[in-house]
Amino acid sequence: MSLRLSTEQIERYSRQIMVPDLGGKAQIRLRESRVLVVGAGGLGSPAAFYLAAAGIGTLGLIDPDRVELSNLQRQILHSTADLGRAKVESAKAKLSQLNPEVEIRIYPVRLEDENAAEIFAGYDFIIDGSDNFSTKFLVNDIAIKFGIAFSHAGIVRLQGQTMTVIPKKTACYRCFFKEAPPPEEILSCQQAGILGAVAGTIGSLQATEAIKYLTGFEEGLLTDRLLTYDAKLMKFHDVEVKRDPACAACGTTTLEAKTMSTTA
Ligand SMILES: [Zn+2]
Repeated sequence: MSLRLSTEQIERYSRQIMVPDLGGKAQIRLRESRVLVVGAGGLGSPAAFYLAAAGIGTLGLIDPDRVELSNLQRQILHSTADLGRAKVESAKAKLSQLNPEVEIRIYPVRLEDENAAEIFAGYDFIIDGSDNFSTKFLVNDIAIKFGIAFSHAGIVRLQGQTMTVIPKKTACYRCFFKEAPPPEEILSCQQAGILGAVAGTIGSLQATEAIKYLTGFEEGLLTDRLLTYDAKLMKFHDVEVKRDPACAACGTTTLEAKTMSTTA
């Protein structure tokens, strides 16, 4: 790995290199980093745009869908000319235009139990921009299994929430939510609606957390707390989240120990 930035890189990234908490070292770290973005939609669009602009070395994008007209109000990676095109292809084109130095890897598939481990391998951080509970729990469980830090987020109507998880060190998504709610209780963007700018705010927070994690910010990460955003009242709140020793994903209580205590 080269420990130098080119003259062009110094100019391109000058405004973040001059931030005292970042600097040239952080820029080199970003160049050596690999981030996977799950979902090239409302959250993945702003997150991937800012990560590519910031000079992340490798950006992975996974999404099985094609661009639809109703996506364009919030999924800003895609434009009218992209209708019908695979979202990952459309996203790759925009991100490469923005920053040709970023290596973009695309996966035009649905994230599932069978392919998650293979796709996650080699990434340093994951942005969960998925739009359904089963994918959110899958991202959580596989990321924890392989020790990959990630940013969780969810959005609906005029509200958003986000939390950063460092496996086995900080509370995970399952510590807080336990399991997916029954389908009849779930409001998706399709059914409930979402303001595009709300997705933009939360996706930008996710990119910020990724950059902070990758450049070694030990303190200040959004860990052990869920940040909630209410755009209607324009209020942000922190909700403390505690690690659950009995958590099915990151808990310290092993299966054997549980079995023994129930038979004792
Ligand atoms: Zn947990």
